[in-house]
Amino acid sequence: MTRSVNGQPLPVSEADVVVIGAGAFGVTAAYQLARLGAGRVVLVDQFAPASQTSPRAAGLYKQIQADATLTKLAQLSIEIVTGFEAATGVPLPVLRSGSLLTARTPAHAAMIREEAAASAGWGVDCELVDPAAARRLAPYLTTDGLRATCHIPGDIFVEEPSTLLAAYLAAGEKQGVKVLAETPVTGLRVSNGRIGGVVTTRGEIATERVVDAAGAWSAIVGRLGEATVPVVPVRHQLLITEPIAGIAPEEPITRIIDAAVYLRPARGGLMIGGFESDPMPLDPRQAGSDFAMDQVPLDRDVLDRLAADVRDQVPVLPDSGVAEHRGGLLTMTADARFLLGPATGVDGLWLATGCNGSGFSLSSGCGRVLAEWMIGGAPPFDVSSLDPRRFGETAFDPDALTKAGLWQYANYYTPAGVTV
Ligand SMILES: Cc1cc2nc3c(=O)[nH]c(=O)nc-3n(C[C@H](O)[C@H](O)[C@H](O)COP(=O)(O)OP(=O)(O)OC[C@H]3O[C@@H](n4cnc5c(N)ncnc54)[C@H](O)[C@@H]3O)c2cc1C
Repeated sequence: MTRSVNGQPLPVSEADVVVIGAGAFGVTAAYQLARLGAGRVVLVDQFAPASQTSPRAAGLYKQIQADATLTKLAQLSIEIVTGFEAATGVPLPVLRSGSLLTARTPAHAAMIREEAAASAGWGVDCELVDPAAARRLAPYLTTDGLRATCHIPGDIFVEEPSTLLAAYLAAGEKQGVKVLAETPVTGLRVSNGRIGGVVTTRGEIATERVVDAAGAWSAIVGRLGEATVPVVPVRHQLLITEPIAGIAPEEPITRIIDAAVYLRPARGGLMIGGFESDPMPLDPRQAGSDFAMDQVPLDRDVLDRLAADVRDQVPVLPDSGVAEHRGGLLTMTADARFLLGPATGVDGLWLATGCNGSGFSLSSGCGRVLAEWMIGGAPPFDVSSLDPRRFGETAFDPDALTKAGLWQYANYYTPAGVTV
């Protein structure tokens, strides 16, 4: 994609909030801000809205999370998207597939049992199932080598991720959100430590509140206001096979955690993606000012290795043709938690980034929480573990940050302490 900058002057010169970035975080925040009465909400994107990482996602939702806060956000997100049409009048198709979380090593099996018990305590409906039950639920699996499997019936997926973004854009426009495409933000006006406006290639918008939801570019946008946004952009890929006889669209998502692989039905075939142990960082700061997500180099070898690792559980994979191979950039943080809340050191600048691989699914909850926080002065529940101000300056050492972000990616399903 080449940037086609809109040459028309801006149709607005003032706003109550400007949201920078029309990906999953930006569209959800803009919609919720407008719905909750933030006033004039403007959503700007340097490219076409909803065109960068978010439409390339797998569309998976996962209630079993690392802690109670993320679990609550996952559950809130599922509640919002499954009730979206009723609340907004805008259709949003969702597959209520459920999911299986499964492990092939004793250490990972123990981890699944612990996570299931903790999650049940946080209100997630989940149960351990035997291999025969797992196969009944997901006939695309053979159960050879599975040591523990947990079934989470309430997990869902969105078949085509672009539909979620389109639905939020439509619902936001109904609430009065003004969307400005092909409008790169090139500066933030800051005086006496307070945001005063946004500078774009088409002119300026005076505003006292800005949300940096610029995904892989969020550190660049933060820097425009002298704010540090500690994210590490890392490539992530998936592929969708050609249709495979016998795969039903509502079969569950499966996550094989020791292989760091996820699977789901997709377009009559299977989708596979996963987290390689030798990830590739790619920072737009070094990639040049025209960098766009379609320039992320794709590497089939990575996915072939992941597929080979699970061939005993999904024997149909190696013989299936590939219909689509896609990828984008995750924004990892040093502790695998979002950056959601006020930026350090600049009043009026808020962050909604640091997706850590679950920004598509949890963005619905994040958008709601951020909007309530910005409007009401406090988040609706304790999200201090996501507050960008939690990091000390030491976390901003670039080499240490990159090392930590890559570690979080490579150990996505396996927290510290589990060794195989
Ligand atoms: C292959 C793949 C599979 C994934 N699967 C899942 C999944 O199953 N579930 C899940 O939850 N997550 C998944 N993710 C992660 C998910 O896609 C991301 O967490 C999410 O899309 C991040 O959204 P975003 O809004 O931060 O970024 P983006 O969607 O990239 O949006 C950021 C926007 O900011 C704009 N922008 C940047 N700089 C400027 C500027 N200066 N001026 C104006 N606009 C600007 C960009 O143009 C862009 O549109 C997956 C990711 C990939 C790559």
